[in-house]
Amino acid sequence: MEKIKMLNPIVEMDGDEMTRILWKMIKEELLEPFVELNCEYYDLGLPHRDETNDKVTFDAGEAIKKHHVGVKCATITPNAQRVEEYKLHEMWKSPNGTIRAILDGTVFRAPILVKNVSPAVKSWKAPITIARHAYGDVYKGTEYRVPSEGKAELVFTTNEGEIFRETIYDFECAGVLQGLYNKDSSIISFAKSCFEYALSTKQDLWFSTKDTISKKYDQTFKLIFQDIFEKEYKEKFDKAGIEYFYTLIDDAVARVIRSEGGFIWACKNYDGDVMSDMVSTAFGSLAMMTSVLVSPDGNFEYEAAHGTVTRHYYRYLKGEETSTNPIATIFAWTGALRKRGELDSTPDLVNFADKLEAACIDTIESGIVTKDLALLAEGETTSVNSADFLKAIRANLEKSL
Ligand code: NAP
Ligand code: MG
Repeated sequence: MEKIKMLNPIVEMDGDEMTRILWKMIKEELLEPFVELNCEYYDLGLPHRDETNDKVTFDAGEAIKKHHVGVKCATITPNAQRVEEYKLHEMWKSPNGTIRAILDGTVFRAPILVKNVSPAVKSWKAPITIARHAYGDVYKGTEYRVPSEGKAELVFTTNEGEIFRETIYDFECAGVLQGLYNKDSSIISFAKSCFEYALSTKQDLWFSTKDTISKKYDQTFKLIFQDIFEKEYKEKFDKAGIEYFYTLIDDAVARVIRSEGGFIWACKNYDGDVMSDMVSTAFGSLAMMTSVLVSPDGNFEYEAAHGTVTRHYYRYLKGEETSTNPIATIFAWTGALRKRGELDSTPDLVNFADKLEAACIDTIESGIVTKDLALLAEGETTSVNSADFLKAIRANLEKSL
């Protein structure tokens, strides 16, 4: 069979620990035999980030801006223990945070569904994708533990002087106080990323806040979304046959539970943090969650939602057999290859991505699974190690190609 060609490169970002081992195995077993990979390679493994004073992470972010598509392996976000373990020069920042800042993007997380792992919510038949606004609000808040009676005020000052002052509360006893902010520019990017991703995946977009209570703060989110939708996206949505709708967060929660899934749910920062854990747990497993960072100007970076699976890596280093689930990492690759194919109008590449995903799902549904899924899946299963699991996927893929 002749290998499938790629007209333009994707940005490949290697990573750490067990996922780095899987990364190489996936390329050798499932990609290189079939596709003439055209990748611009960046090694975001912690040792190389340290050697380059983290420049490699910034370069990778810029490269995604240039080529519009990237695929990333999970990476270690160093803490004090990692600084010691890897003898680092510095406690480098999270690569995901750095790349998100460069691309100004929003993260979309979606579960991969298989028939033999049923969601905890019986009505869910298709994935629910959570879009979380990863900027501001309580994550950048200023807090104060009010020690005694006294007056709390909200004050705003420009270069010309004070233009706003309002009493928050006249404390008659001790209490707590919190100041939050967000920026129009960030909300606009969030909105555009959501509309772009909905068009790209042809799914309805829901957005929810608590604007009935938060009449200026949450209302601003609602109005910015509405304004951008009407000016820039309404026609495109009509043409694509998809819908945007806004509803109160409490109504959204009730509708989500009663829904069949198959849509994107955009959430403010805190709501997205909490709801994405709820939705992923209800769908089954972190090892089956994909994640894509979408920038408002249409750059896409795909990855698995899980980390580097450190515990399995230490076992691997001792020479023990490991059964780590590679599915979310494979789907990061298929996501990137499909997007590359769509942007370059190369249907062979899109078709390959579809077939590889189908081969993964067929393998699991036939009962061949990694250990994590053996505990979750219904019916007869055989738990195999990562290498044998990839071989089984390859056999299914070869049958379909
Ligand atoms: P993790 O790597 O997601 O693993 C947590 C546990 O979840 C594992 O020990 C394993 O449970 C299970 N698990 C996760 N993915 C799995 C898979 N593919 N197959 C089978 N089981 C899987 O999270 P962590 O241990 O908290 O973090 C490890 C490192 O990853 C940290 O250094 C962190 O900074 C980094 N991290 C990176 C990203 C990213 O790059 N996007 C995201 C999160 C964390 P059992 O051990 O019980 O089998
Ligand atoms: Mg969380």
